[in-house]
Amino acid sequence: TTSSADGAVVVRAGGGCGLARLSLRCAESGLTGLEFGCGIPGTVGGAVVMNAGAWGQDISAILRSVTVVTPGGEETIPRDNLGFSYRRWDGWERYQGMAVVAEVELSLRRGEVAAIKAQCKMMQEKRKASQPHEYASAGSFFKNPPHDSAGRLIEASGLKGMIFGGAMVSELHGNFLVNRGGATAGDVLHLMKVIQEKVKKDWGVVLEPEVHCI
Ligand SMILES: Cc1cc2nc3c(=O)[nH]c(=O)nc-3n(C[C@H](O)[C@H](O)[C@H](O)COP(=O)(O)OP(=O)(O)OC[C@H]3O[C@@H](n4cnc5c(N)ncnc54)[C@H](O)[C@@H]3O)c2cc1C
Repeated sequence: TTSSADGAVVVRAGGGCGLARLSLRCAESGLTGLEFGCGIPGTVGGAVVMNAGAWGQDISAILRSVTVVTPGGEETIPRDNLGFSYRRWDGWERYQGMAVVAEVELSLRRGEVAAIKAQCKMMQEKRKASQPHEYASAGSFFKNPPHDSAGRLIEASGLKGMIFGGAMVSELHGNFLVNRGGATAGDVLHLMKVIQEKVKKDWGVVLEPEVHCI
């Protein structure tokens, strides 16, 4: 970490660092701003590409710079040139998959360790109560449409609990497609299509996947 002129504490982290681990380290060091990351699986690099976030916050808001390694060399991009939208780093497309997020700088603030840890705990408890954890999943499957929630629409279409092969629309949260055991990618993609068609028919809303299908 270093201090910047605007009073922020600049945290430098490798792209392969676990986001939740980094969030915990920041909390223990009395640095606030990354509490939302405490329950998000994956790496810092993945979080940048996905513009990961939770509870109305996301990583783009605290990014100061991103360093990528491309076949042409290393490039550090300052935050004003990055360009993010909901669960998406828009500027990522120009690399066409030919870059690795190697390092990021985050702008955090000093705060009370106890208060920061309490915030993390509260977010974890909210997550545990509202999201399935007994089965594997990819997290939220669809992006929330503007001013609405994908989970609410899926539930309103009566799709919670629907099963195809080993995959199921979670009974706890409609936006989670869980693996009951032996689910194939085909099972999950089938459920995805059924959900998209039914929600479009019922509510006129086209649900866009948040997950990357590769
Ligand atoms: C139970 C559960 C809960 C979740 N909750 C949330 C949540 O609350 N909020 C949220 O935003 N997401 C959530 N997710 C989704 C997921 O955790 C995030 O999208 C996360 O940021 C993905 O990180 P990853 O390292 O696993 O990346 P991956 O999923 O492996 O990859 C995502 C994309 O980023 C690219 N990528 C990954 N690392 C790099 C790198 N270093 N350089 C270049 N490209 C890279 C991959 O090629 C891919 O296109 C959840 C997932 C699960 C399973």
